[in-house]
Amino acid sequence: GESVVVVGAGQAGSQVAVALREQGHRGPITLVGDEQAAPYQRPPLTKGYLAGETDLAGLVLRQDSYYDDHGIKLVRGERVIGVDRQARVAVLGCARTIPYDHLVFATGARPRPLPIPGAEHVLNLRTVADADAIRERLDGQIGLDVVVIGGGFIGLEFAAVVRKLRHEVTVVEAQSQVMQRAVSAETAQHLVGRHRSEGVQILTGTGVAAVREGLVELTDGTVLVADLVVAGIGVVPNTEIAQRAGLAVDDGIVVDAHLRTTDPRIHAVGDCARFASTHAGGLIRLESVQNATDQATAVAAAIMGGAEPYTALPWFWSDQYDVKLQTAGLTNGHDRTVTVGDPAEGRFSVFCFKDERLIGIEAYNRPIDFLMGRRILESGTALTPDVVAQPGFDLRTSQQ
Ligand code: FAD
Repeated sequence: GESVVVVGAGQAGSQVAVALREQGHRGPITLVGDEQAAPYQRPPLTKGYLAGETDLAGLVLRQDSYYDDHGIKLVRGERVIGVDRQARVAVLGCARTIPYDHLVFATGARPRPLPIPGAEHVLNLRTVADADAIRERLDGQIGLDVVVIGGGFIGLEFAAVVRKLRHEVTVVEAQSQVMQRAVSAETAQHLVGRHRSEGVQILTGTGVAAVREGLVELTDGTVLVADLVVAGIGVVPNTEIAQRAGLAVDDGIVVDAHLRTTDPRIHAVGDCARFASTHAGGLIRLESVQNATDQATAVAAAIMGGAEPYTALPWFWSDQYDVKLQTAGLTNGHDRTVTVGDPAEGRFSVFCFKDERLIGIEAYNRPIDFLMGRRILESGTALTPDVVAQPGFDLRTSQQ
């Protein structure tokens, strides 16, 4: 059978290998990853793993024996440094080459570097090694001053766990709203309220000017004391190897509706891929487990000869304190929202519309709305803001 090389052994890369075998692929599969750990899930790094509730064995996606048993050659702790498209080989850091018939980039993304003086004092949180370094700094102590740069999902989840570990936490967000890229102002405001009621300080509209040993200087002149500074200001996709191989790259490895790069033998999936999304109506990159897993499964099918375009509905979740936020669809770009449920009780859903069309739902401790919402968005059933705004509107009964 044809040979497949997967570059990057994270959420997406490992799923490409698994899905190929599940779909009956018989040829050799090599999965190359530069981390030491077997493929693992990142979400617990800002949740249970950081809190010390689960260990590495609880993060790995499959036991080591799975890869052996399924004839997947897992190469760990090795980087792919180049791809020779004429010779059709991947080149490893150790200079070994691996031939391929199909190659999949699943190289993920890395934390965006902080462009300020003193950035070397700031820790990031992307890998299990990063989480271990942070845990070491917090270990056995309480009441440390922790500053979080960036009020995105990662920064806020991190803040919630560190607060539960009884440290003093300040989140600094340069935009006027936290999580601006991902959720509506209503949802963001509720989360901010929740953080504040837990004693986390959230500063918005303020940038960080510099970091010094034990201090963080803000752009408005404020100086914060900090025993630990952690940044979550977004990521940069790992595209350098694809670019050097001559593939189209534009904030992500550019792929078509079949997740194919400009070379038909090469696909890209997960955080590193910029793809044509029917839901966004343009090229986007998504950073989520759903996107990594669904794209990986779709690419396995494409390698097996399938011809279906990739159209999966995006969805996402975040856990902060006892808040479970789940989003279905993509809500950015909405021009109208309707809130259903009981915000005062901390259970509500924000329905987001664009031009009268439902584009996404943010369910705040309303898992049923998330599940039903996914179905409605997947099926394309029309739901207008006026219907949702009617008193007593309930997704469960509206669809009968
Ligand atoms: P990755 O998982 O990053 O895997 C890429 C792998 O490729 C990495 O191991 C990398 O080291 C390796 N690699 C890169 N270049 C090379 C090379 N040249 N050679 C060999 N190996 C290479 N998503 C959610 O949906 N819900 C959540 O609650 C959530 N929480 C998160 C919390 C944290 C702390 C983080 C960091 C992410 C979270 N995410 C969450 C996002 C989600 O984990 C990512 O979208 C997902 O991991 C992307 O999978 P991927 O395989 O594309 O990239």
